[in-house]
Amino acid sequence: MGPGDPRRRGNTPPKAAVAATCHCGAIRIYVRRVSRTLTSCNCSICRRYGALWAYYAAGAVRIEAPKGGLTQYSWKRRIRAYYRCRKCGCVTHYRYREKRRDTIVAVNAVNFEPAALLGARIRHLDGAQSWKLLD
Ligand SMILES: [Zn+2]
Repeated sequence: MGPGDPRRRGNTPPKAAVAATCHCGAIRIYVRRVSRTLTSCNCSICRRYGALWAYYAAGAVRIEAPKGGLTQYSWKRRIRAYYRCRKCGCVTHYRYREKRRDTIVAVNAVNFEPAALLGARIRHLDGAQSWKLLD
């Protein structure tokens, strides 16, 4: 089973799902709805990715990817694994590497269709220093 296999994820597709897709379309992440609040973080990795994070319970997210279609990056204490499409390079989501904490998935909301993001509030997280919201 590959990383996107629904059996491995242990959940069924959410009803009336919206999909965040990478540029080439190889990776599809289904959720019930786009969060109304997205997080922009200024830490060393998030600011470079330019990601807007939408957080979900792991069981509420279905990730479809071809075998070997995702590649990941972790650094330093390797707390999180940041996933991207191996083909087109789009950053799709991150998870916590520790089993105990692997209960949420942060989906990169920039991969939803722009219309789905209209009206969403963007909060700014100071992940670089205080780890507090700046607004
Ligand atoms: Zn892709």
